[in-house]
Amino acid sequence: MNSVANDDPQDTAPDQDWDPGRSAQLYGINAWGAGYFNISDRGDVQVNVEVDGLPVNVSVPDIVRGMHERGLHMPAILRIRNLLDQRVEVLNKSFARAIEEGGYGNCYRGVYPIKVNQQCHVVEEIADYGRQYNHGFEAGSKAELIIAMAQLRESDGLIICNGYKDAEFIELGLYARQMGIPCFFVVETLSELPIIIERSRALNIEPLIGVRIKTTVAVDGYWSQDSGDRSIFGLSTTSLMRLVEQLREAGMLHCLRLLHCHLGSQIPNIRNVRSGVLEACRFYTGLVQEGAPMGYLDLGGGLAVDYEGARTNSTHSMNYRLDEYCVNIVESIRETLDPLEIDHPVIISESGRATVAYSSMLLFNILNVSSSRPTTTAGTPPENCVETLRNLHDIQARLSEQNFQECYNDALFYRDELRELFHHGQASLRERALAESIFLEVLHRIAAMLPDLQRVPPELQHLEEQLSDIYYGNFSLFQSLPDIWAIDQLFPIMPIHRLGEKPERSAILADLTCDCDGKIDRFSTPDGERNVLPLHPLIPGEEYYLGVFLVGAYQETLGDLHNLFGDTNVVNVAINADGSFEFAREFHGDSIADVLSYVEYEPKQLQENFRLVAEKAVRDGRISVAQRSQIVNAFKDSLHGYTYFENH
Ligand code: PLP
Repeated sequence: MNSVANDDPQDTAPDQDWDPGRSAQLYGINAWGAGYFNISDRGDVQVNVEVDGLPVNVSVPDIVRGMHERGLHMPAILRIRNLLDQRVEVLNKSFARAIEEGGYGNCYRGVYPIKVNQQCHVVEEIADYGRQYNHGFEAGSKAELIIAMAQLRESDGLIICNGYKDAEFIELGLYARQMGIPCFFVVETLSELPIIIERSRALNIEPLIGVRIKTTVAVDGYWSQDSGDRSIFGLSTTSLMRLVEQLREAGMLHCLRLLHCHLGSQIPNIRNVRSGVLEACRFYTGLVQEGAPMGYLDLGGGLAVDYEGARTNSTHSMNYRLDEYCVNIVESIRETLDPLEIDHPVIISESGRATVAYSSMLLFNILNVSSSRPTTTAGTPPENCVETLRNLHDIQARLSEQNFQECYNDALFYRDELRELFHHGQASLRERALAESIFLEVLHRIAAMLPDLQRVPPELQHLEEQLSDIYYGNFSLFQSLPDIWAIDQLFPIMPIHRLGEKPERSAILADLTCDCDGKIDRFSTPDGERNVLPLHPLIPGEEYYLGVFLVGAYQETLGDLHNLFGDTNVVNVAINADGSFEFAREFHGDSIADVLSYVEYEPKQLQENFRLVAEKAVRDGRISVAQRSQIVNAFKDSLHGYTYFENH
């Protein structure tokens, strides 16, 4: 392992009372890990899966070692194939159980929304493993429909086509239908209907039509706008009636088979799910009464992931379990339709996040730590220094648990006064530096008193955060964790090793981009959100690895090339029954040449341009011919290197 830089002045001795159990509690891994992750006695994060019905666990640091041996360095996405399989299985089995126990008269058909993680091996694995459950796909574009049509071999899985559809999209879906694939067009706007009618007549293929409605149920959480009157998707009740009339006039009402209702993603409150299903059932009933055969009720996505492990109805959590979700849906449909003697429809859900979130984690190493702790004690001001500096220094001698608040106010006052003096040329640079050091020393001493207080004064409540270290991580927030930046998403973040040691430092994380938004300063803990993350001091000569968990949904393709950091390395690991693991697939992340070509540079041309610059430098006598070769080769090597920090 390679050495790391450490600006950190105060490495602390390990706390003998600490153990992996306390780390588990601190980082909440047993709550958000849902049994898939925990901490081993050795203090490593491990992944727990079932293989052939038996539990198997594998240490994540062991996988990281294997990655380095194969030349796959940090940052990297680690995907555990078994976790994808297990999520598909648990979803199907939970619905099957609810259906059986609830005496429901039809079956469940899951469809995976490709947009949630389109990566080929993720979709392939869901198709392969999901075949036994006839798990299908939701496609929101022509590209996604093409993926779905090519993946659903020898399966009765459904394809649900959402989104805007042009004639080509519709023709593709009709061909799928002609080949026996149950491919539904979900009408999102009335303008799509004439194209569906016209193309199906022209090709003489009868379509399976669904219709998406706007529900009025108000949903908690971030995606509350996905439903309701102002939702940009789905038909209003008036438009729905026009759709029925137009289909009737075209003699195609018998093609209307599916009602689609997506309440939003990450629905944290089970009450919203229940209300949404009840409302959907009312629309379903209405369409049956209008004479449409129906038969399928698609409840969209929304099944949440408990990123916080808090089991509450807060945005990043959920107040229900998967079993409860399934039972609520099954019961609500049965209770609404039975009194009206309407046959139970096939239940479809488009669970994306809950299917893929657990299977991926982002791993990265820490490159450096910047600490606000003064490296040495600030020292005594010289005799002839400005009076403000002396006053600031005097605070240190009188600071105690009895007067810390007063000392805090004084320290702030004198620090600001000295900055003013510096501004006006009345204090020297050296005096200002000394003042800043003394000020920080005072603040650190006050911060150390706070944990013992019964009540922390409001102005000191953010002191821990203000004094926290900055751990610089080898990753790009914009490329690998875009939802943290875009929608303030919380993901579980923790070290993947050294968990038998007490994490003595409080830190925020900064990424490699030189963007002030490229930081993480909100973390979920079992006790709620915090602005700092407890971490271990770096050990010189050793790598320190962090993992960001549950990142399998939405993060990979939403990421962007900010500062031209490209795709990270990716490994897909398959865990075997004997606890061994295989690198089933590995992908090297983008090279610098790759990302430059994405933004319309021609790497070969850049190389040629640079050769000309080097030639001129030789002509001008700045470098020798031998140096020219060395420099041109270094340029070429960099062009084909990883976009992230390399220290191997
Ligand atoms: N179906 C539709 C129509 C969606 O818009 C979405 C995402 O917003 C999903 C399914 C997937 O939702 P989730 O990831 O919450 O399961």
